[in-house]
Amino acid sequence: MKQSQMLVPTLKEIPADAEIKSHQLLVRAGYIRQIASGIYTYLPLGRRVLRKVEDIVREEMDKAGAHEMLMSALQPAELWEESGRWYTYGSELMRLNDRHDREFALGATHEEVATALVRDAVKSYKRLPMTVYQIQNKFRDEKRPRFGLLRGREFLMKDAYSFNESQESLDKSYELMFEAYSNVFTRCGLDFRAVIADSGQMGGKDTHEFMVLSDVGEDVIAYSDTSDYAANIEMAPVVTKYETSSESPKDLEKVETPDKKTMQEVADYLDHELAKGLKSIMFKVDEQFVMVVTRGDHEVNDVKLKNLYDARIVELATEEDTRQLLGTGFGSLGPIHVPEEVEVVADFAVEKLVNVSCGANEEGCHFTNVSPGRDFTVKEYADLRFIEEGDPSPDGKGIIKFARGIEVGHVFKLGQFYAEKMGASFLDDQGKSQTMTMGSYGIGVSRTLAAIVEQYNDDRGITWPKNLAPYQVHLLSLNPKKEEQKELADELYEQLLDAGVEVLYDDRKERAGVKFADSDLFGIPLRVTVGKRADEKVVEVKERQTGDQDELKADTVIDYVKNWYK
Ligand code: ATP
Ligand code: MG
Repeated sequence: MKQSQMLVPTLKEIPADAEIKSHQLLVRAGYIRQIASGIYTYLPLGRRVLRKVEDIVREEMDKAGAHEMLMSALQPAELWEESGRWYTYGSELMRLNDRHDREFALGATHEEVATALVRDAVKSYKRLPMTVYQIQNKFRDEKRPRFGLLRGREFLMKDAYSFNESQESLDKSYELMFEAYSNVFTRCGLDFRAVIADSGQMGGKDTHEFMVLSDVGEDVIAYSDTSDYAANIEMAPVVTKYETSSESPKDLEKVETPDKKTMQEVADYLDHELAKGLKSIMFKVDEQFVMVVTRGDHEVNDVKLKNLYDARIVELATEEDTRQLLGTGFGSLGPIHVPEEVEVVADFAVEKLVNVSCGANEEGCHFTNVSPGRDFTVKEYADLRFIEEGDPSPDGKGIIKFARGIEVGHVFKLGQFYAEKMGASFLDDQGKSQTMTMGSYGIGVSRTLAAIVEQYNDDRGITWPKNLAPYQVHLLSLNPKKEEQKELADELYEQLLDAGVEVLYDDRKERAGVKFADSDLFGIPLRVTVGKRADEKVVEVKERQTGDQDELKADTVIDYVKNWYK
């Protein structure tokens, strides 16, 4: 491809809204352009890389026995009503009406469409297990679209769905997908880990996320410093054994804490450690108000709360709700004397405490010498806090450390959630009707592309791995006005094309400095420059990643390139 005729609008300046490397570089190097917040066009270079990532995904899916198809992006509301997600998915789902005022969604994911399809088309155990997949744009009205392709509102996803005749069969399909995912991300040259995750909106329990380790990741991974245990911190269970306090309980006392709102302010004022105060937070768990009590130095984990209640939706109670129920705002909440309609649950660490402080449900007042169990009742003690660095690893080996990750893939066992709601059944080998068991498997293809750039860049631009670069060779003619340079470069271009090499030819009438800078920005792994020594038929080759360079006779270039890419 000749660069003079290609749409690659490179930029010298870093775009003002681009906070992270992949966003900056993909825009600056002319791979993508933003259309609206979280919505992008892939320009020719971007499209080529995206296709390479897609191809890797496709090959691994096919190898795992999944079949590609393409479902519609537009989905009738009725399907989402069948699963119930029309009401629970919330405002991330892009909804619209047709001219007859019928409701539709733009596909955020395709469990409903896939389940309805297989429900209607597959009736016998003889067709199972069956896994289908597609690579398609998804639409999600994200609250905070940001970081370029990492969190878009329209983005490319590979989604696969397995339909199984039993839990054992699902376990096998899951295993196959897990392996395929590991292959995909390995082939993408990514430093990743598969971590135990929460199943979120999707129902089901057994799930793993594939996380690319990166400081710009929005997720935090808790991993063991000695074993291969790794989990999203949302999920990592706390297995700390708490010691019972040896203090003897003192009499409960109410004290004034004027204007002290935060845990730290109260602790300082009452002159005790953060861990000697109780943190009380009001949640609305589906329709139930729940006060969650943890130690002052711990953080409430709302995913664990959601799982404890097996709830669909967990949200913080509003300050207004809190005032109405307890007669006070957030700063002075506590579990003593709460009305019946509020359930109090507490983290395991709270059970062993004595003589701690907590809010008195009265503006500017706290209780001290509080002993849980004696001064207030707890409906249930449970693991309700986030794991922390230094906690013991849940698998009993080593201690926990944190790392940040970008979630590029997600595999989960859905079980029978959708199949039951949508009536997806089959006849088993005894002729008996059985409900299907399902799995769902997603890869953020466009997010993966960005994650690769996060990992492969330097201060001059992108440094693609060999198999993902938009082109294999960037051919530069430094001064095309010089006849012998133009001629040799033209000749090499034709030879490279004939040899089946993917080549981008910078034939533009630009200064050498501009060409080199753009070339570094693009990140094509191998550069062949036709310059001053063209009359001797000598060219320069340079590796983008290492900076290693060499001079070659022009007639050895094809062999050199082929060998380099072997
Ligand atoms: P996140 O927690 O990042 O919002 P998710 O759990 O909502 O992700 P899934 O529903 O599991 O994501 O979607 C499958 C894959 O699609 C994710 O693993 C991720 O790689 C990708 N993905 C999800 N949301 C986006 C987005 N807004 N932009 C780009 N890729 C996304
Ligand atoms: Mg999401």
